[in-house]
Amino acid sequence: MKISIIVPTYNERDNLKELFERISSSLRGRDFEIIVVDDDSPDGTWEKAQELSRQYPVRVLRRTKERGLSSAVIRGFEIAGGDIFVVMDADLQHPPEVIPNLVEAIEKGADVAVASRYVKGGRVENWYWYRRIISKGAIMIGRVALPKIRNVKDPVSGFFALKREVVEDVELNPVGFKILLEILIKGKYANVAEVPFTFGLRNAGESKLGQKQIFNYLRHLWRLMLWEGEIDRLVKFSIVGTTGIVVNEFFLWFFVNFFGMHKFLANLPATELAILNNFTWNDLWTFKDLKRKPFLGRILSFHLAALTGALVQWLIYGILLHLGAYYLFANLVGIGASFVVRFLVNRHITWS
Ligand code: UDP
Ligand code: MG
Repeated sequence: MKISIIVPTYNERDNLKELFERISSSLRGRDFEIIVVDDDSPDGTWEKAQELSRQYPVRVLRRTKERGLSSAVIRGFEIAGGDIFVVMDADLQHPPEVIPNLVEAIEKGADVAVASRYVKGGRVENWYWYRRIISKGAIMIGRVALPKIRNVKDPVSGFFALKREVVEDVELNPVGFKILLEILIKGKYANVAEVPFTFGLRNAGESKLGQKQIFNYLRHLWRLMLWEGEIDRLVKFSIVGTTGIVVNEFFLWFFVNFFGMHKFLANLPATELAILNNFTWNDLWTFKDLKRKPFLGRILSFHLAALTGALVQWLIYGILLHLGAYYLFANLVGIGASFVVRFLVNRHITWS
């Protein structure tokens, strides 16, 4: 099997020699090519790569019209001739010695193999604690927002391998820096493996990615949620929730007026009927394609979500009151939090 290593570059001239050398010794005896996709770097990275292509199996794509990390990787896929694609940075933060492990994972049956900072044995060198928290927090948000990738520990790694079929004929959006996220949502695959690695320090040159990436990342997540239909579900879930309010009010009024029930006690069956109403519509509509759990499991888990939501609502209400917030405002925040919590518990447990 031939391996194509795709390396997007921008001002990485001084890293190329060592990068090519280490890739070559890691893959000795294997059929491989290195594809450098360079955005017309002012430091002449493309020129240097071309010069080194006499010594190493390198092809250079110098782009003058198009820019950006993800689109560079996509162009690389288009011209790659291998059966296995590997994507990595040029600055040696991605140690080439890990490539054989990635390839091995693919040969053992994975469709996508991620070089992961966050599985056992993987780590990040020299990051301040707040960098780690931001990185882990961002990943956690991604895994919660996109249930499809919830089992991947490092879905934003820039270092990964995949079978060519995973991205062949798949339309990938070239906006955004996290091309792996895009592939994990839109690609055609069944198994993902994660291989530990240490994200080291940059060799030469400087980083081009800064803090504004956080905002871009959130926008990317939003687009992928839309694409996945998660936003549709969220809208349906809130419509169903609204019908639940109507059901709840109606039966409360009904039990009090026709059965003469105590106003306090009547609230219990009214709430239960609203829960059953919401469960029914969510089961038939919002999550109709996700009925993997048996009926009893789904209905119990839906009640669990309702209970969790109520607890969160009550807790937030209490905390905000204690902090001196206006009570109606505090309640509104609590209701909002309860909505999110109920949606997530249901999406990840009831209809997973
Ligand atoms: N890169 C690129 N185009 C860009 C930004 C970055 O080709 O617009 C390349 C860069 O040359 C490197 C990789 O993408 O090979 C990762 O970039 P960088 O090391 O600056 O990011 P960091 O590791 O600091 O997150
Ligand atoms: Mg880097």
